[in-house]
Amino acid sequence: MSSFFGRRVSVFSVVIMVSGLMLGFLFGLFLPLAVSAKSERVAAYEEVAAQSAVEEVTKIAAEKGKDSPEYGLAYETLPGSKKYNGPGFAQSMSVETRESWLSWMQANRSDSPEFLEKRWELAENFVKNSKELKRTEDLRAFLLVPREHFVRAVNRGFEYADTWLPIGYGATITDPDVVAMMTTTLNVQPGDKVLEIGTGSGYQSAILSYLTTEVYTIEIIKPLFIETDQLYRDFEKSFPSYGSINRKLDDGYYGWEKYAPFDKIIVTCSIDHIPPPLLRQLKPGGIMVLPLGPPSRQYIMEVKKEVTETGSIVISRRDVYNGMGVKFIPFRNEAGSSYRAVQEEE
Ligand code: SAH
Repeated sequence: MSSFFGRRVSVFSVVIMVSGLMLGFLFGLFLPLAVSAKSERVAAYEEVAAQSAVEEVTKIAAEKGKDSPEYGLAYETLPGSKKYNGPGFAQSMSVETRESWLSWMQANRSDSPEFLEKRWELAENFVKNSKELKRTEDLRAFLLVPREHFVRAVNRGFEYADTWLPIGYGATITDPDVVAMMTTTLNVQPGDKVLEIGTGSGYQSAILSYLTTEVYTIEIIKPLFIETDQLYRDFEKSFPSYGSINRKLDDGYYGWEKYAPFDKIIVTCSIDHIPPPLLRQLKPGGIMVLPLGPPSRQYIMEVKKEVTETGSIVISRRDVYNGMGVKFIPFRNEAGSSYRAVQEEE
């Protein structure tokens, strides 16, 4: 017993009161502080990225002039000449059991061990419970890419959550489930030329780089392009397949004429029609995967292009999720508006 405002109260009630006060303090003060600190971190991160873009643009202006293509939207890095054999490396990976995979990873890779178990569990779940990653090549490619490299620092803790996450500039890293499904649908063969529209975080292309040596990816948002380009460079020493991804800052609606045709095309921004230039750049017998539909909801479509003996082009479509909708960020043009099949009248 102790005395409190002249009244005798039990130690127990004092403890309850003090913890109540502490909890109140925690939620009333610390939580808002923590939340605002987090949003401040987001702001700071955006600023840093914007700053690096400004520096890059200033450097290009000084070195190549303001009239150079590099200063504007079209900017390419073509490290594909390095030709690292990602699929060859992937083939040697053991996926028999979790233990054999873990020991292969420890012997061959420098991934941070804290994420390995989580990555295995996510992949195992897809293989067992859905139609994804059934092909060993796709499973290996998925298991070889540390998602933690591509999820931005503000989302630490969610690296292996089955959800999409913001990566700045209004863009997102696609949820692992959809990435796995789109990759599976592409059915990439070693040597296939694959074009991705919407590099974003760089995660999807990193996976593709373990399926073929010919990966091409296009991003339209300049600071995001620069950030991901830098990320690939930073990791290239220990993850050489990133170094073989050909990347370009441009409007992906028009594809990449210089390297067309492509065996496979993957579009990771939403659109209500199949962009005709992309369809043209798809090889006969090729596969395109894209989120098709209006901005509110899309369906992941597998589009196959066949050319008949008489020369007519036949396009077939399959909804890979059988009616389940997804939501991707819009396929936009340089001015920032979404591409639409039917333009509204002025
Ligand atoms: N594949 C990405 C997903 C990124 S979200 C990943 O693995 O993280 C979609 C991306 O498409 C965004 O980064 C967006 O900027 C980009 N995008 C939108 N319109 C585009 C266009 N016309 N050309 C190229 N990229 C585009």
